[in-house]
Amino acid sequence: MKNKQFAVIGLGRFGMSLITELSRMGYDVLAIDNDENTVHNAIDVAAHAVQADATDEQALKSLGIRNFDVVVVAIGEHVQASILATIILNELGVKKVIAKAQNALHGKVLEKIGAGVIYPERDMAIKLARSLVSQNILDQIELSPDYSILELVAPRAFAGKSLVEIGVRKRLGVTILAVKRGEDIIVAPVAGQVINPGDVLVALGKNEDLQRLSEMES
Ligand code: ATP
Repeated sequence: MKNKQFAVIGLGRFGMSLITELSRMGYDVLAIDNDENTVHNAIDVAAHAVQADATDEQALKSLGIRNFDVVVVAIGEHVQASILATIILNELGVKKVIAKAQNALHGKVLEKIGAGVIYPERDMAIKLARSLVSQNILDQIELSPDYSILELVAPRAFAGKSLVEIGVRKRLGVTILAVKRGEDIIVAPVAGQVINPGDVLVALGKNEDLQRLSEMES
């Protein structure tokens, strides 16, 4: 097992998917839920699965939760339980707490009490909407509400031109972090880098600039 220790509280669809992936990657995960049957179902997937109420400080303490590198609170619908658990984890001195928010207000509260907040449903929907609108988007990472990194097939108009001739930075306002060409990857390409047909670009920029880029014909 790798040495980073993770705990996931709340074994709904999101919590279980996270545990499954971390376990597949060779990490040791402690799975916690207050429902007996749910915990039972997690036994085959997680290294350890225990039944505990995450709003019970003593219960979390006795699990040695403060020794985990990251604790993810994947309780969505039970907003009160999610907030209480996050407060307790912070008070117990857990280094990094990441909590799943059900909506914007829930997220605001979680942020205020010191959690890293994720919105899986919203983020997945945004991702899907963007890829439905533009078929050349291969992947995307949201860095902040305004900035993202996009992996996309280079627009046809770029072929045979260098980055400076295309004016990616000056005209389009985006920075090309890498160019993927078949099995090869050109990291931090220079301004004179020529784009070939079929190249894949990894671009960083403001969402509206990236959207414009992704809407160009590939
Ligand atoms: P998903 O969308 O991921 O399926 P969800 O956002 O609907 O889940 P919930 O159903 O609210 O989330 O909770 C997920 C899990 O968290 C459930 O299995 C539930 O038993 C568990 N849970 C709820 N409250 C607590 C608590 N106080 N302590 C531990 N686990 C809890």
